[in-house]
Amino acid sequence: MDEETRRVGLEIIRTAREMLQSGLVEGTEGNVSAKVGDDRVLITPTSMSYMEMALEDLVLLDLNGNVLEGKRQPSSEKPMHLKVYNAREDVRAIIHTHSLYASVLAVLRKPLPPLTDEFMFKYGGTIEVAEYGLTGSEELAENAVKALGNRAAVMLANHGVLCCGKSLAHVLELAKVLERMAKIYVTALMIGEPHQLPEKVIRDGATVYEIIRKMK
Ligand SMILES: [Zn+2]
Repeated sequence: MDEETRRVGLEIIRTAREMLQSGLVEGTEGNVSAKVGDDRVLITPTSMSYMEMALEDLVLLDLNGNVLEGKRQPSSEKPMHLKVYNAREDVRAIIHTHSLYASVLAVLRKPLPPLTDEFMFKYGGTIEVAEYGLTGSEELAENAVKALGNRAAVMLANHGVLCCGKSLAHVLELAKVLERMAKIYVTALMIGEPHQLPEKVIRDGATVYEIIRKMK
């Protein structure tokens, strides 16, 4: 494992532990990956305690999914991670969680509309729900990429959520904020009819999001 892979690996483990400790997943649920250079992806292994995970448990892949380094089985959601990296050059890190309120919306198959100005800058627009695909399948990977578009997150029908962005710190924040937004939306729906943001704010927010997204 070279220096850069080790550095990214340590950050993946820190991110995965915080994902668990923040309650975005339970047990060994979810997965985290990040780009190493331009043509490799480092990903968490399948079914392993995040608290016991060490650098040598991570799996280094090429963009076709071939294992370059690592003894363990890569996360079962490997196809979904790779498909997103192959579709989106701007993406350097991915987190997949089963956070509660986002999963409620995913079960209802109800998209999460932009609720605040901040939401637009962060996610680029409505977070759609990808059509159902079996966990770990190519079908799920394809459906997720299709529903993700150029935005920073997508919900997976009857499953959970995926966030993608420029760094591990970035995607962890996206996953946490998305969960809070989903909680606000679900709670608002219980009491009444949530108001939409003004059209102009949505338009301008999407423009700002695209500018930030295309920055190196
Ligand atoms: Zn999952």
